[in-house]
Amino acid sequence: MAATPLKNPKISAYLRSGNTKFSHRFSSPSTVIYPSLKTSSICETLFFSSLRPQKPRFYPVSLCSATVSGERLTFDVVVVGAGIIGLTIVRQFLLQSKLSVAVVDAGVPCSGATGAGQGYIWMVHKRPGTAAWELANRSKQLWEELAEEIQEQNMDPLDMLGWMKRGSLLVGRSLGESTSLQERVRLLSEAGLKVQYLPASDLLKKEPSLDVGSEGGAAFVLDDCQLDAQRTVEFIEKGNKSFCQHDRYREFYYEPAVRLLRSPETGDVEAVKTSKNVLYSRKAIVIAAGAWSGTLMQNLIVESDISLNVPVKPRKGHLLILENLRNLQLRHGVMEVDYVTHQNGPSISDSSTSIVAEDDSHILSISMTATTDMWGNLVLGSSRQFTGFDTQVEDSIVKCIIERAGEFFPALRRLPLLEFMRSGKIRVGLRPYMHDGKPIIGPVPGLPKVMLATGHEGCGLSMALGTAEMVADMVLGNSLTIDSTPFSAQGRYDQ
Ligand SMILES: Cc1cc2nc3c(=O)[nH]c(=O)nc-3n(C[C@H](O)[C@H](O)[C@H](O)COP(=O)(O)OP(=O)(O)OC[C@H]3O[C@@H](n4cnc5c(N)ncnc54)[C@H](O)[C@@H]3O)c2cc1C
Repeated sequence: MAATPLKNPKISAYLRSGNTKFSHRFSSPSTVIYPSLKTSSICETLFFSSLRPQKPRFYPVSLCSATVSGERLTFDVVVVGAGIIGLTIVRQFLLQSKLSVAVVDAGVPCSGATGAGQGYIWMVHKRPGTAAWELANRSKQLWEELAEEIQEQNMDPLDMLGWMKRGSLLVGRSLGESTSLQERVRLLSEAGLKVQYLPASDLLKKEPSLDVGSEGGAAFVLDDCQLDAQRTVEFIEKGNKSFCQHDRYREFYYEPAVRLLRSPETGDVEAVKTSKNVLYSRKAIVIAAGAWSGTLMQNLIVESDISLNVPVKPRKGHLLILENLRNLQLRHGVMEVDYVTHQNGPSISDSSTSIVAEDDSHILSISMTATTDMWGNLVLGSSRQFTGFDTQVEDSIVKCIIERAGEFFPALRRLPLLEFMRSGKIRVGLRPYMHDGKPIIGPVPGLPKVMLATGHEGCGLSMALGTAEMVADMVLGNSLTIDSTPFSAQGRYDQ
């Protein structure tokens, strides 16, 4: 059957270019570079880690990313950070404009939080009427459109993005939680979602392996989706790379940005200096460096008269991946209701949750999230901690994640914990945390041309396409689909 033509031929070409795996394109070993872990401290700390050492998954560096050190390189837009936020911003500029774009990363795509993400694109735990809701809602709509476009091109969104519309269950186990879930169902329904309240007996039929006790229940959002972060990044990267041949796109990986350069005449920022190159920008420099964006901004504008404290902090998270669990295959994504409290703030004091340590500097929370990934593995999360940029796997936290999940899934209790610890794979990532629960998206006051797109905490995958659209529309002077004011940097950090 012939592929349906899309309204935007550029998107159509982009989609087709995404229909090949990296391994196919870089089948010759001579074009594939597998750098040593020692080459970058960020790579060293941020790849998938495991209780047993694992070979990290590196992306091959393509020929079009090769560059001559010292060459003067000028682009319309330079994006710093190749996580899901940076890469989708690149994609948006490439599709929506004729601008040339460069992306810079200290490591490679998926080195940061993106590679650790669980992949839920859920509305069930978000609060209607907030700015974050608007952004997430728009973004989800864009993800759904992308999945549909992939399908229209006779490709499988599952294969391309790990895309699954499974629905989500936000579950509680007490009468109080069930009451609050019923109220949430009302709000979500008023906001236009297909949502139901499921008491314990109905919930058991929907998700037989879940046990919430007789007083529990769930908010069930029928259309919530999930994706696979690695698969999605591969797809987006592949599409972006197709613009290399038109000289509109270049990648500079293993090249940390070290400084912003300002014009001696105007004082305006005009370039990003990396460890190897100076990348001049005509129109915009977008800082999308996730949890590193705060410290990076301080380093970038060193020796300048401007002092900016972008208060994005790293918030460490562990996920556990369990393979071959035939007796525990979930039909939906599941999250405990306390996740909402844990995500929103560092001060947690609810005795019903599995908090294992709490002091001024190291607040730790664990809330159960459980999904089945595209390969049928059970993915269990997740922890939240403020421990700086450390990404070591902590056995005590893995144990807590398993124990917490066991409170909801009796089948897990019957399995030997030590076996899990030995056979499970662990992913660790640093979420870019903002104290007020919203990302920063917009220009940096006092630095014309410099934009921030960071601080998405546990929602960066779900909010990526909406963020990218907003950034590109701002730079291109288009009218915005949703109000960007609540995400503005103005007044949200100390100057
Ligand atoms: C355990 C866990 C589970 C999660 N689950 C979900 C989920 O289910 N759904 C969801 O929506 N979100 C989830 N998230 C959150 C999501 O992963 C993040 O919000 C998102 O990945 C942030 O993307 P980013 O591009 O801003 O940052 P990152 O992915 O961290 O990318 C930042 C990039 O900047 C680069 N960088 C740093 N310093 C420099 C420099 N000096 N120069 C150049 N580059 C630099 C890094 O190498 C990195 O590649 C989860 C996160 C974790 C940790």
